[in-house]
Amino acid sequence: MRLDIVSIFPEYFSPLDVSLIGKARERGTLDVRVHQLRDWTHDVHKTVDDTPYGGGPGMVMKPEVWGEAIDAIIADGRAAGSPAADSPITGSPITGSPATGSPITGSPITGSPATGSPITGSPITGSPATGSPFAGGPEASATPRIIVPTPSGRPFTQEIAQELAAEPWLLFACGRYEGIDSRVMREYGARMRVDELSIGDYVLAGGEVAVLVMVEAIGRLLPGVLGNVHSAVDDSFAPGAMRNLLEGPVYTKPPVWRGHEVPEVLLSGHHGKIARWRRDEALRRTVANRPELAAAIDPETLDKHDRKLLDELAFRVGPEDMAN
Ligand code: SAH
Repeated sequence: MRLDIVSIFPEYFSPLDVSLIGKARERGTLDVRVHQLRDWTHDVHKTVDDTPYGGGPGMVMKPEVWGEAIDAIIADGRAAGSPAADSPITGSPITGSPATGSPITGSPITGSPATGSPITGSPITGSPATGSPFAGGPEASATPRIIVPTPSGRPFTQEIAQELAAEPWLLFACGRYEGIDSRVMREYGARMRVDELSIGDYVLAGGEVAVLVMVEAIGRLLPGVLGNVHSAVDDSFAPGAMRNLLEGPVYTKPPVWRGHEVPEVLLSGHHGKIARWRRDEALRRTVANRPELAAAIDPETLDKHDRKLLDELAFRVGPEDMAN
């Protein structure tokens, strides 16, 4: 999977060198390229923002610089061969190694996935995207899916993470200030998939942390990234048995710690009872912490035991509770 990230703070992304995502990048499962938006400015101050039309406080990110950046990245991805088109990309890592203390400054395009040889230097100003209408055909595989983090977007969920994990190429556009001029999303939305996504009902100072959150959630779903392929299936929110459920409490050795005992059933070795206990705890926790999620559980997926437990908790699944 190829990920392009555009930001005025590329150094925010050094955590992507660490842990599961770092390893996935080393192995070539993930090809992450971080780009400095200001590299596509043309003025000496490298201006990326301007005052909002209609007045009001704050600044808005200018469309021209975003257009040039996105066009160049798309052209580069196509020149390198669409990630969708063929074999996995073993691309060069983003420029600059945090280990050596140098920030990830990413010259706009740092290396062709095809050859792995870094192309350094000035932004690619050549052939912009062809502008062919987005039809979802072969052309679609030669374009990235664009993700724009914004508090006004659709909520980013585990389901969306799963969907994005199946894409060959994602381009994240990190806003700052009051966000990006809306015409940028309209322009690219006409020829490729553009999603405005929010990571929660609060306002951050910029899209960088939101993109880190999304990349981590997506990256751990890629084949071979998690040590145990089953871990993602049991996770909270995981499509399947865990949809609309939170995972219950977990324990490890020793069996007694500061007088607190591990629930006996977990030591029993009885797989059926353990599975039942885990499901009970998941239901209890969801009802307590996320009643709106619990109310959205499909009643069809509840067995007799689930219903009994929910009755004990005086919780009703289905439309009535959602209305209350
Ligand atoms: N004035 C805007 C907020 C701008 S916050 C509004 O009220 O909607 C500046 C930038 O931070 C946004 O462009 C976006 O990229 C990022 N951001 C802030 N909160 C976010 C959230 N909850 N999810 C995703 N991105 C967010």
